[in-house]
Amino acid sequence: MEVDKNNSSNIIDLSRSLQQKETEIELLQQTFTEVGSELDLEKIFQIVSERALELIDAETLLIPLLDKNCVTYTYRGGAGKNISEIVGESLPIELGVCGWVWKHKKPWWHGMLDELSEEEKNRWEQEIGNMILVPLQGKRHFLGGISGINKNDGTSFTKKDLNLLQLFASIVSIAIENAMAVKDMEDSHELNENYRYKLENLNKQLIESSKELEYLSLYDSVTALPNRSLFYDRLSRDIIEAENNNSTIGVLLIDIDSFKDINDTLGHDHGDSLLNKIAHRFGEEIKNNETLARLGGDEFIVVLPDQDQRQVIKRAESFINCLKDSFTVDQNSIVVSASVGVAVYPEHGNSISNLLSHADFAMYEAKNSSIKICVYDPENDHLAQGHLAMVADVRKALDEKQFELHYQPKISAESGQIVSAEALGRWYCKDRGNVPPNIFIRVLEQNGLIDEYTYWAIETALAQAKVWKSGYSIMRVAVNVSPQTLMHPEFKENIDRIIKDESDGDLLTFEITENLFLSEFDRLAEVLEHICSLGVELSIDDYGTGYSSLSRLRRLPVSELKIDQTFIKDMVENKDDEAVVHSTIELAHNLGLTVVAEGVENTSALNLLTKLGCDTIQGFLISRPLPVEKFNRFVEEK
Ligand code: C2E
Ligand code: MG
Ligand code: MG
Repeated sequence: MEVDKNNSSNIIDLSRSLQQKETEIELLQQTFTEVGSELDLEKIFQIVSERALELIDAETLLIPLLDKNCVTYTYRGGAGKNISEIVGESLPIELGVCGWVWKHKKPWWHGMLDELSEEEKNRWEQEIGNMILVPLQGKRHFLGGISGINKNDGTSFTKKDLNLLQLFASIVSIAIENAMAVKDMEDSHELNENYRYKLENLNKQLIESSKELEYLSLYDSVTALPNRSLFYDRLSRDIIEAENNNSTIGVLLIDIDSFKDINDTLGHDHGDSLLNKIAHRFGEEIKNNETLARLGGDEFIVVLPDQDQRQVIKRAESFINCLKDSFTVDQNSIVVSASVGVAVYPEHGNSISNLLSHADFAMYEAKNSSIKICVYDPENDHLAQGHLAMVADVRKALDEKQFELHYQPKISAESGQIVSAEALGRWYCKDRGNVPPNIFIRVLEQNGLIDEYTYWAIETALAQAKVWKSGYSIMRVAVNVSPQTLMHPEFKENIDRIIKDESDGDLLTFEITENLFLSEFDRLAEVLEHICSLGVELSIDDYGTGYSSLSRLRRLPVSELKIDQTFIKDMVENKDDEAVVHSTIELAHNLGLTVVAEGVENTSALNLLTKLGCDTIQGFLISRPLPVEKFNRFVEEK
């Protein structure tokens, strides 16, 4: 009985927190859209204060900003109780909590108490419980803060309020700073239309590029269906319920056949519109407590609580059948088919990841046969066996030092000089031939072997860089470091062991992926700061494919951004990709980052990138990744 009670209260909690999350995100999104198209400072203050008031459920919300003289601050905007008396008032900065926040550049909330000295604690104890103040940090200057006073329900502000308000502040600060610049220029009659237009655009771009929301958001922007994150939440809720009631759950993974060809033929916009229509049809098949979500690309997932295998197969048929009538996109009539993989809880797995990977396996079986629907069958799971052999081979490769590094030059777009090299893993396996790094790295990552590999790669690259340092001019070598390794509790120690000499760090760059930015921020910042303190530079790899958030990025010690090759490949022909590359270069430069274009294969791309101000070029046009001897020859001939 005890378990039952816990479970049902878990479910209620989960549902409640989901609902709340959805409301918060909607509010954030609305605010960013509104402020993104606004350059009038007073209006921005009004929008920001009203929304923030609602977001953290405060009685009063104030925006204290530092004055130009830097000795006073003024409450420039506000919402809620008593604001008519406060807004407009100026005070010396050393006064009160504002002064504390500005001095420490840290937010203020009651959790702060634990960090204060006894003396400070006594001083602030009175004020701390009912107030929250987060800093507003602009690109160029420290601006001030956003502060909430008293919660409407009489409780204290929580860590969650703090996180929400910080996220909010980090994004609206851009709009506030730009609007302040416009106001200054208006006051001095210097603002011309051209510049205003540029700023307006910059505002929009910055806010659009803040993909943090996409991550936080629970719905997919193309189809408006729940996204992966909401699907996870829902399925975990359903699993708790099924465990409780001894019931089963069907999971269908639906993949649209040949969608890539459709996308290539119709173009991405029409491809998206088709996906939207497909989602709509699938949506009509869904009943009460069932979930239809988009996992990404052309993959949909359906969760069917309380249904056994026979029922689930029937439902899978109805999803296939609802695609029978053709779709009209851009006046073309298109017929679409799909393949469905089925997994049933608990028979085929009792965790989300198990159910998903087994539905995925079954879906591939369906694709490779003429049957449209396949139920997971462990006997057919040859892959599992093949996979085990692969893990054993990779393990052996690690022990026997079969891995090698090849090096690909990165050159300066301006001078054509080699500025650095990227070390890329290579594995020649006697039985398998050359195995691409995308494959063996994943196996290493999934089997807890990646740390050992990465330290080997860093050591090898560093040793090579030292050789080059003595022979050629100093050149950094970039090593790809998996998020898993970087966030490992022992990473700092291990890296200190490898980078022993003071000048070693200056020879290395770590390429990290965007998704690392989903990690817990404080810890991530601490690790990255440590790496930088050793002289190692940090580069964001495959930028544009993950969940980067510029607001987070600019608070981390990153110095380079590599635009993913997919954008570079299509850029010459596709204006959208060119626009993405262009704005990424501008934004990155604004944040003080160097930009590398990866995957440059032809001179038209090179010329366009040079025109757009890209700093560094990497790609087959310059050279493929080469073994050391060939790389040396390449450098000598250059
Ligand atoms: P990455 O770090 O983005 O590396 C760039 C990839 O693009 C390399 O593929 C490189 O050979 C390829 N490339 C470079 N220029 C061009 C071009 O002009 N056209 C085309 N089509 N491709 C180009 P590679 O070597 O197959 O590596 C693939 C990925 O595997 C890497 O992507 C990286 O994510 C991962 N990887 C490789 N070595 C390591 C490693 O030592 N550690 C870790 N964690 N990951 C690695
Ligand atoms: Mg890389
Ligand atoms: Mg890359």
